[in-house]
Amino acid sequence: MSTLAVFGGPKAKTIPFGTGKRFGVEEAVELMEALDQQTLFYHSGKKVKQFLADFGAMYGVPHTVAASSGTAAIHIALGAAGVSVGDEVITSPITDMGSLVGILYQNALPVFADLDPHTYNLTADSVRERITDRTKAILVVHLAGNATDMDPIMEVAKEHNLKVIEDCAQSYLCRYKGRLVGTIGDYGCFSTNDFKHISTGDGGVVTVNSGDEQDYRRTHMFADKNYNRFGEDIRGSIPYLAPNYRMTELQGAVGIAQLQKLPNICERRQAVGDGISAGLQGIRGLHTHRVLDGCDCTYWFYMLRLDEAAFGCSREAFSEALKAEGVSNQPGYIPSVVYLYRIFQEEEAYLGSRFPFDLGKVDYAPGLCPNAEAILETAIRIPVSEFYSDQDVREIVEAVQKIAAHYQS
Ligand SMILES: *Cc1c(COP(=O)(O)O)cnc(C)c1O
Repeated sequence: MSTLAVFGGPKAKTIPFGTGKRFGVEEAVELMEALDQQTLFYHSGKKVKQFLADFGAMYGVPHTVAASSGTAAIHIALGAAGVSVGDEVITSPITDMGSLVGILYQNALPVFADLDPHTYNLTADSVRERITDRTKAILVVHLAGNATDMDPIMEVAKEHNLKVIEDCAQSYLCRYKGRLVGTIGDYGCFSTNDFKHISTGDGGVVTVNSGDEQDYRRTHMFADKNYNRFGEDIRGSIPYLAPNYRMTELQGAVGIAQLQKLPNICERRQAVGDGISAGLQGIRGLHTHRVLDGCDCTYWFYMLRLDEAAFGCSREAFSEALKAEGVSNQPGYIPSVVYLYRIFQEEEAYLGSRFPFDLGKVDYAPGLCPNAEAILETAIRIPVSEFYSDQDVREIVEAVQKIAAHYQS
């Protein structure tokens, strides 16, 4: 058995991780065409329209709306779903703050439900426990490229007449029992910020899955100050408040080229993540990133969990040892479950105000979602890239096996 690198032995990772360029001449050509239009306004140019048409075709959905970010896409979906003052929206406590921003800007209240301990996604049972007569919608977060168990969640939603919004910011081309996530609920929300599977610098997309023209118009208008661009009267008929979350032609142009690369990016990320899981089966005290049967994960990152007692060392020692072997990783993900963030503990969304928290009585106490809290306390996150080689995957696995062998010999 070779000495761990952290104790001066040779590294398990013998070559640098694969890297590559995500932007190239394909994006440049689209950008030149966008500039040549002599307008960068989405409603006048062709690029955002093309990007949305391509996105809709790839996802097989009738209507798509562009947004300036993933956060904006979620706010747009909430607005289109009719989420308003005092409503409750049930969501996941392990997510990006962008999932919460739109809820609070609608002056609605986020309600946190608990997660499956190994998929890290919402469970229908926990969602059901959180329903009150104020509940308006469920915001499902498909974390890290992994499909949430949607059938039972859609059932709960139907029983209680709730809208379902899917946050797919981390989960492109990810299938749940054959259906792409983002096409199952009422709306799917995507982010094209610079850290996601594809990037337009910043940006987002909302899929409108109902096929209903009025639903599509409401969604489109909510992204654009509630300006009605479908008829003659753009401003006179503004029905109620909506933000300006428009995408520019420059983002649309880059998005067209990025979308063409998306299938290969997702296929490769899936192979990398599944390869790590396959290699790590059967290690005592280590739980791999669980993917539901018949579903995909297109791994925005890979996250395993450590049972310290069974594995034989602390999570921090494991993380340091893995880093020393040449495999970068982080203990945990976000600093705590979202409801323990200051904004919820102090119930202060708007500086100096208790609104909208004072409209209801929502629980943000520690211990509210025990599985979610335990996930963050025991997880190790390993970055995944579409540029990783098969040797990279093998050496990640070998590094973890080496650490396990050391502590379990
Ligand atoms: C990135 C992300 C968002 C927000 O997207 P932005 O484009 O950064 O606004 C929302 N939800 C999740 C789960 C994300 O990962």
